[in-house]
Amino acid sequence: MKVLVAVKRVVDYNVKIRVKSDNTGVETANVKMSMNPFDEIGVEEAVRLKEAGKATEIVAVSMGPQACQETIRTALAMGADRGILVLTDAELQPLAVAKILKVLCDKEQPGLVILGKQAIDDDCNQTGQMLAALLDWPQATFASKLELGVSDARVTREIDGGLETITVTLPAVLTTDLRLNEPRYASLPNIMKAKKKPIDTVDPASLGVDVAPRLSTLKVNEPAKRQAGVKVATVADLVAKLKTEAKVI
Ligand code: AMP
Repeated sequence: MKVLVAVKRVVDYNVKIRVKSDNTGVETANVKMSMNPFDEIGVEEAVRLKEAGKATEIVAVSMGPQACQETIRTALAMGADRGILVLTDAELQPLAVAKILKVLCDKEQPGLVILGKQAIDDDCNQTGQMLAALLDWPQATFASKLELGVSDARVTREIDGGLETITVTLPAVLTTDLRLNEPRYASLPNIMKAKKKPIDTVDPASLGVDVAPRLSTLKVNEPAKRQAGVKVATVADLVAKLKTEAKVI
């Protein structure tokens, strides 16, 4: 079975985000970029499926500027077999990404598509769901465990009240949650080998997808600064403050 994994290039999760002075977005110039952490989990899961003899080929797809090739190389170093770079400098919103993935799925016919539950830059949590709708395939979102059969998959999902286990028939769309696995670090020999693995480059127009944004960002603001705390001397003081100042009890 072929597995397609979407890998987004985002600002590294360790970077302290700075809002641009004109409030149009966040600063990305000279900022460390990495693979979206939920997508690393997706690649790891696909590689484990291949190691278990359940997947035959892993295709890593990234969309955006030329630098997304680095993100694909990381996926290849972790164990993906080949990459597809959808090259564009346009701003890509979830619907555009889902439409591109739909065309690639029509072409590649994977048995399973794995995405992150959300990209840590836009926090949209939309692309996997939109893709499942466009393909008319079942979706298993927020996956924390995957047991892949021949024609279906048993997926444990992280939901508010606990864990939910469902089965979906294949082909299906899966989105990863944090506890699905712990991604491996690519070894140096695998990083070297990844340089020789093939990456196809296409553009949205050649796939027939209009990526024009449907939403416009009006303003981006820093979160409000936290107020400094106060130290109280006794529990009685604390209770008094909670009652009279915070008015929470
Ligand atoms: P979102 O819906 O934007 O929170 O993104 C959810 C998931 O969609 C991400 O974790 C990726 O797997 C995938 N995705 C979104 N944008 C891209 C992109 N530009 N390139 C590759 N995958 C993407």
